[in-house]
Amino acid sequence: MEADSCSIGTLIKTDDPELVRRSARPEGTIVDVNGIKIGGKEIVIMAGPCAVETEEQLSETAKSVRAGGASLLRGGAFKPRTSPYSFQGLGKEGLEMLERARNETGLSVVSEVMDTRQVETVARYVDMLQIGSRNMQNFPLLKEAGRTSKPILLKRGMMATIDEYLHAAEYLLSQGNTQVVLCERGIRTFESSTRYTLDLNAIPVLKQRTHLPVIVDPSHGTGVRSLVPTMAKASLAAGADGLLMEVHYRPEEALCDGSQSLYPEEFGMMMGDLRKIAEAVGRSIHVL
Ligand code: PEP
Ligand code: MN
Repeated sequence: MEADSCSIGTLIKTDDPELVRRSARPEGTIVDVNGIKIGGKEIVIMAGPCAVETEEQLSETAKSVRAGGASLLRGGAFKPRTSPYSFQGLGKEGLEMLERARNETGLSVVSEVMDTRQVETVARYVDMLQIGSRNMQNFPLLKEAGRTSKPILLKRGMMATIDEYLHAAEYLLSQGNTQVVLCERGIRTFESSTRYTLDLNAIPVLKQRTHLPVIVDPSHGTGVRSLVPTMAKASLAAGADGLLMEVHYRPEEALCDGSQSLYPEEFGMMMGDLRKIAEAVGRSIHVL
């Protein structure tokens, strides 16, 4: 075999952006959200409703995902909706509800920030900032969020290549924030039987090219409730460090993404299967 043929078959690239590239931290980054470590041996589960809607909806859903084994509660207070006439989220009131749900359940809280002007406020209420798919290349927002010391969940743009995704993460690190978790959430393809096409390739590709933790969102990745448990299992088998899943106490009443939201009982059952997959790949699911 020729000397350099050893590198054929791996994806390590020397021209990946310098702060996110794997070789910058070969041991891998562990992101710490209130003591919950993402990127280590333990798999971390984030779950909750797409949008914070009411005190009861959030509280009931939070209690059920806590009981099922989630460590973080994810709920949107500022929602990036395709139509300006759709429910846009409760804003600051939603953040206050998240804070109360955190106090009630002990779950740490993740919520999306869409605008540079919201960063300071959202950061005051949450344990982790989410930057959504549609804002993956909102460079002013990336810079502003990168200047905070909050852990950041950066979702992959639905039309972004892995190269573009890594450069977006580089923006965050370039501002001094090293606590960044990547999230594959499905990309646009010609396939229309699912909402997006969940790119499972992205998990090992990202794991080889960057030291940042990688989680998967099979809820948006499929858009179909009945497909979520299967793709959640596949994601863990493929090496994901965690999962983000939508759960609603009454999906049929959800103001956003009800058809991809799991019922609490389904979430609990799926968690049983995920524990077995985690064990099969030499890991375990973080328990609060
Ligand atoms: C969400 O997480 O609810 C969301 C809007 O996701 P995405 O940005 O991946 O579409
Ligand atoms: Mn959603």
